[in-house]
Amino acid sequence: MFPTTIAGSLPKPEWLAETGKLWPQWCAEGAELAQRKLDATLLWIKLQEDAGLSIVGDGEQSRQHFVHGFLERVEGIDFEHKVKMGIRDNRYDAMVPQVVAPLRLAGRVHAEEARWCRAHTTRRLKFTLPGPMTIVDTVADRHYGDRATLAMAFADLLNQEALALQADGVDVIQFDEPAFNVYMQDAVDWGVAALERAARGLACTTAVHICYGYGIKANLDWKRSLGAQWRQYEQVFPALAKSSIKQVSLECIHSQVPPELMALLDGKDVMVGVIDVASDAVESAEEVADTIGRALQFVHRERLLPCTNCGMAPMARGVAEAKLRALAQGAALARERYA
Ligand code: ZN
Repeated sequence: MFPTTIAGSLPKPEWLAETGKLWPQWCAEGAELAQRKLDATLLWIKLQEDAGLSIVGDGEQSRQHFVHGFLERVEGIDFEHKVKMGIRDNRYDAMVPQVVAPLRLAGRVHAEEARWCRAHTTRRLKFTLPGPMTIVDTVADRHYGDRATLAMAFADLLNQEALALQADGVDVIQFDEPAFNVYMQDAVDWGVAALERAARGLACTTAVHICYGYGIKANLDWKRSLGAQWRQYEQVFPALAKSSIKQVSLECIHSQVPPELMALLDGKDVMVGVIDVASDAVESAEEVADTIGRALQFVHRERLLPCTNCGMAPMARGVAEAKLRALAQGAALARERYA
């Protein structure tokens, strides 16, 4: 009961990349950088295991950013001439690469770190990929001319990598779709279909993470503008409940998401956010168990996975480590309470 997992990213050590940033610069290059990425991955696998998490991941130590880490292996994208673009419905500006030709994968994207993780842990292993709609919202399209068409093209490439990750021994493949909370009607019209296309043929566990973003100022300001109840999930969850995706991750603790919206995910495993990534205050085990208790009103206990609200990339490392422990300890307390 209550297997624990994290949304995906973890802070990079200062010997790997700039700390406290969402788009950090690497601290080394070439073979030295490649070695440091694997060393940092191993470090976080060990720390997740020691914290007591049930399902571990690579902490996205090998990617500069959760979207662009994938795009770097895609042909048809011009990284030399990035352009400034408002993303997530103009919530913030980012320097994004341009799609200039038909898309094609140049080869494997995450083979090295996936095999590395598999070789170093016997726990269940989760790997994250950006979702098609979120990728579309993080590039400038100069070729396809239509967001849905572009999403389907990316979905095919994601599917290719996802099937290969499964063959590498990955147990859970999660697509990150924060854009679902921004373009709710598009998500229903074509976003979920693109997601299913990215996951087609997978026999391993499939998951989608939908959130209100990292704890950075632009996101905190946005959340303040959303009113007393955040009902974005209400539009997308019914479509996801009908989909083939097995697990859905959502924000819960310290959010304004009405918990009853979780009931819309009947039949799915629900990764409930019980750790706040927008605050450095470390949750107590009691607080985590209380949040699990509230979610149990709407989610069957066999289907509840305590999780973080979102990734922890921009956090201080010590805070992230303490929050991993709080997650595992809170889930253990909940097992005693709600068994
Ligand atoms: Zn997130």
